[in-house]
Amino acid sequence: MSLTVVNHPITNHYISILRSKQSNAETFRSASRRVSLSLVYEAARTLLEDEIEIETPLEAATGTRIAQGIVAVPVLRSGLGMIDAVLALLPNVSVGYVGVARDEITIKPEEYYIKLPDMAGQKVLVLEPMLATGGSLSYAIQMIKDRGGVDITAICVIAAPVGVDRVQREHPDVDLVVASIDRDLNDQYYIRPGLGDMGDRLFGTV
Ligand code: URA
Repeated sequence: MSLTVVNHPITNHYISILRSKQSNAETFRSASRRVSLSLVYEAARTLLEDEIEIETPLEAATGTRIAQGIVAVPVLRSGLGMIDAVLALLPNVSVGYVGVARDEITIKPEEYYIKLPDMAGQKVLVLEPMLATGGSLSYAIQMIKDRGGVDITAICVIAAPVGVDRVQREHPDVDLVVASIDRDLNDQYYIRPGLGDMGDRLFGTV
């Protein structure tokens, strides 16, 4: 598995807007989309390409086109804040959804929703903005693998070291693209310094 931390002035600028508690939901959604655009560019680096012949206004030239279908899978609900960026950049995208919630008693992740297209031969981009303990993402990846996903990249806005370790250990074949690896988790499993609850901030449910 490769781990890529996108360290770019534009990404870093919008990550700071996401972190600030002064940012309202509209500002937050816009910054989430902009950070996600840079993460999707990076995640798409390994997409297969075909050569094509094209005519410029001046002469014949050789170009390329993306030769692989893409399945984007936002993990509900905060992954929805990244989907616009995928749809804006990539051709031939189909979108699946997975919902994973933590059982209050066992503290284990559990599936509450799944809808996935055929993933054979496709690159699967799993969208999970906050990689905290890694429990939900690892579980979501397993749900995707169990239904035929093979070429999988997980895209996260902010990750905690413990979550990165867990996903690397449980899914050594999955690539991970993140914008920031933060310090640690608090005792309620929020990432520090982090940005708070991504879903609440995206959808104004604080
Ligand atoms: N999910 C969030 O929304 N925020 C965190 O800090 C951790 C998990």
